[in-house]
Amino acid sequence: MNILTFDIEEWAIAKSRGYGSAALYQKYDRCLKQILDKLDERSIKATFFCLGMMAEDFPEVVKIISGREHEIGCHSYKHLWANKMTEPEFREDTRLAVTALEQCIGEKVLSYRAPAFSIGESNLWAFDVLAENGITRDASVFPAPRDFGGFPSFGYDGPVILERNGWRMVEFPVSMASVFGRRFAYSGGGYFRLMPESFIKYEQKNSGYFMCYFHLNDILPGPRGVMSPSSYEKAYGESGNWMKRAVRSFKNQVGREGALAKMFALIDRVDFSSLDSVPIGSIQEVKSLKD
Ligand SMILES: [Zn+2]
Repeated sequence: MNILTFDIEEWAIAKSRGYGSAALYQKYDRCLKQILDKLDERSIKATFFCLGMMAEDFPEVVKIISGREHEIGCHSYKHLWANKMTEPEFREDTRLAVTALEQCIGEKVLSYRAPAFSIGESNLWAFDVLAENGITRDASVFPAPRDFGGFPSFGYDGPVILERNGWRMVEFPVSMASVFGRRFAYSGGGYFRLMPESFIKYEQKNSGYFMCYFHLNDILPGPRGVMSPSSYEKAYGESGNWMKRAVRSFKNQVGREGALAKMFALIDRVDFSSLDSVPIGSIQEVKSLKD
């Protein structure tokens, strides 16, 4: 099973943080168009998790993606992390996002991914909130330790039916590779840029479950400086000393040149599909979530 996903947020984040400009939005438009054209060329459908703010401030972007028959999923309303919100805050954020996206595309939204894979053991109630909002597929679990969270005890490296409080949904966790007993991500974001193509190819061929995830900012070329303390706090919801900001800047920069070509080579090679095209009957394992 090869799943391709994108998280669509850059336009709205730039606008809300005060650095948006027509030139920047056009740069994002061009990158998105290249991706959509590449997917058409290969007749591949993907899932695009969009911010609720995108549906309100840049509805044409969401409509272009939906118009090319890709699945529109929800990526929260304004990219706050689920594990930094209270349950009522998360409920309001999810309601706003799902409503805005459904109004924009005129269809029910059934798939969700939390920013920064921020659903884990400490906030299992987030799944209840997603179920309340009609979500039946989630892709928010990073089943290993991670900066700012992760869900190391999750116990599944492939799709699994979650059940809790009378609802069921399918979880599509991030794919993990394992080397010398250490598990790590390799199929999206900075991990994808860092890992050699040969390693990604080997894992994709041998793992049976390959879930890729990209933000445009993961693959667009161009230098990224060290963030100011205030931008870091806005982006990550906590204060960052110089070392933390420098490490984050390195992770954000490494492998950036050539990342788009590397992603296109992957799309050329792998028969990907979207979350909504996975036959649910093919998933047998069930995990009960308990606090
Ligand atoms: Zn995101």
